Amino acid sequence: MIQGISGAAGVAIGKAFVLPSWEWDLPDQKMDVVDLAKEFERLYEGIRTSRNEIETIKQEFNEVVGPEESSIFDAHLAILEDPVFMSEIQGIIERQYKAAEVAVKEAIDHFVTMFDLLDDEYMKERALDIKDVGNRLLKHLLGAPEITLPSDTQPYILVAKELSPSQLAHLNPNYVLGIVTLIGGKTSHSAIMARALGIPMVSGLENSVNLPVQTGDTLIINGDEGTVYVNPSEKMMEKYKRIRNQQQRKKEQLQVLAKVDAVTKDGIIMNLAANISSTKELEMALRHGAKGVGLFRTEFLYMDRPTFPSIEEQYEVYRHVVERAGGYSVVIRTLDIGGDKQLDYLPLAEEENPFLGYRAIRISLDLKDLFKAQLTAILRASVHGKVKIMYPMISSIDEIREANQVLREAMKDLDQQGIAYDKDIQIGIMIEVPAAVVIADLLAAEVDFFSIGTNDLVQYVLAVDRMNEQIAHLYHPFHPSILRMLKMTADAAHTAGIDISVCGELAGDERAVPIWLELGIHNLSMSPQSLLRVKHRLLNTCAEDAKAVAKSCIAMSKSHDIEAKLEEFIEENAERLN
Ligand code: PEP
Ligand code: MG
Repeated sequence: MIQGISGAAGVAIGKAFVLPSWEWDLPDQKMDVVDLAKEFERLYEGIRTSRNEIETIKQEFNEVVGPEESSIFDAHLAILEDPVFMSEIQGIIERQYKAAEVAVKEAIDHFVTMFDLLDDEYMKERALDIKDVGNRLLKHLLGAPEITLPSDTQPYILVAKELSPSQLAHLNPNYVLGIVTLIGGKTSHSAIMARALGIPMVSGLENSVNLPVQTGDTLIINGDEGTVYVNPSEKMMEKYKRIRNQQQRKKEQLQVLAKVDAVTKDGIIMNLAANISSTKELEMALRHGAKGVGLFRTEFLYMDRPTFPSIEEQYEVYRHVVERAGGYSVVIRTLDIGGDKQLDYLPLAEEENPFLGYRAIRISLDLKDLFKAQLTAILRASVHGKVKIMYPMISSIDEIREANQVLREAMKDLDQQGIAYDKDIQIGIMIEVPAAVVIADLLAAEVDFFSIGTNDLVQYVLAVDRMNEQIAHLYHPFHPSILRMLKMTADAAHTAGIDISVCGELAGDERAVPIWLELGIHNLSMSPQSLLRVKHRLLNTCAEDAKAVAKSCIAMSKSHDIEAKLEEFIEENAERLN
């Protein structure tokens, strides 16, 4: 048995598919002068293969998205013929006797660094093209196979050193039985997405430097306990098949609650909305009875593509979500990249502390054209239903005002073009930076609503990186400091008379229900998979009793005692699912 961290609940049983890692191993020995000709021949062969490959991709792309988008590949083809890039590579081979792949890598690094230093968006884009083409060439020189997932006909458990949110976005949940990764914590975005899609996941495998699993191994993964069994015994298989079937039955029992209102035994109504990052997750949310979308993580629209999405493309997606939400509100959060979410075409400098760095609203306020384009698309979608805008990672009043200034400019442009939008659109902010909690009273005067992002708030308040599996045991959403901060935020919102909700993962934790009732928070937004469980808990809770329990929890001094008290309350009020 291998111990890891629970990423997403549930048991999965199946064959492993191990995703090879992308790290290149470059030869470091110098070449003999007599081998130079051979090295050049290898280089030219690699260029020919890369060119053929790019031409094929271009053609495929052309058929799917049209000539405009596919023209990016013309730029790639041009790089393969660029005399400056090529002579740099040739020079390194010729003068330094380095292998072709080393020369290509050094040439890429040289041009990318040079272009990155220029304060010119066009040149920065060229740097990206060079990186892309160079990596393709490298792949051929090294004979590295193209990494593709197994054909979507045989369900598998995906095993990887690390899985980026964009890789996860590509998976077909019908064929991925479960996920195992070496790296990543419970609130990494990959884990959040796995939960949203209902795929059991174990991450942060204890003390494992290499993956202890091979493609074809039979695996049991227990996402509830964070354990993995490799090639288990028959007895183990039987036991876990029973557990898996029981979980399946519970899910089916809960499904009948999809159309029921979320209300406590004594009549307190909660609005349960969903967190989504794709239209795939939206459908899942609707099946689980979500009343609207409380957090649309729009960054996933920007991932896995060669360039930024146009206003039109974004508008189409937002409109689709808003229309599907059927009258319930959709809170669209503006771009929140950085941290563990990256865009291939927007190279962010390596940072010592990416979660404390260039991310979210900081990037939007730096790249204002990009921000304005997104706001324009959201505004245009606002005529199709009830849309709200939310800014992430706010820590000061200035940031809100600066963001609103860009919003006003977007509105002015639309006015001039005679394009309709909701002029009373509500503006809110994520409360996820400790500073925002402390000045919540000041921020409340600037916005229409708060939404508490406990994932980041917990990592910032406790100084526990949400991605770091080594300290995952210190990540305590029920820490007394967090409960106090939740209370401070709720009090500030109530005093100012603005709406408040919670959209971090804690909202989907049924143990937290008494806390929300006590703090007067009646809007929760959570992973689609948590909706029915939390609703079931609410239906079996008397708000008055719950408030008394929460009151005592808020006065406690240890996370462990708080959790124990909340669990005891569930035990006492459990109408058990079998
Ligand atoms: C949060 O930080 O709690 C949150 C909801 O945002 P994200 O998980 O996307 O950072
Ligand atoms: Mg956040």
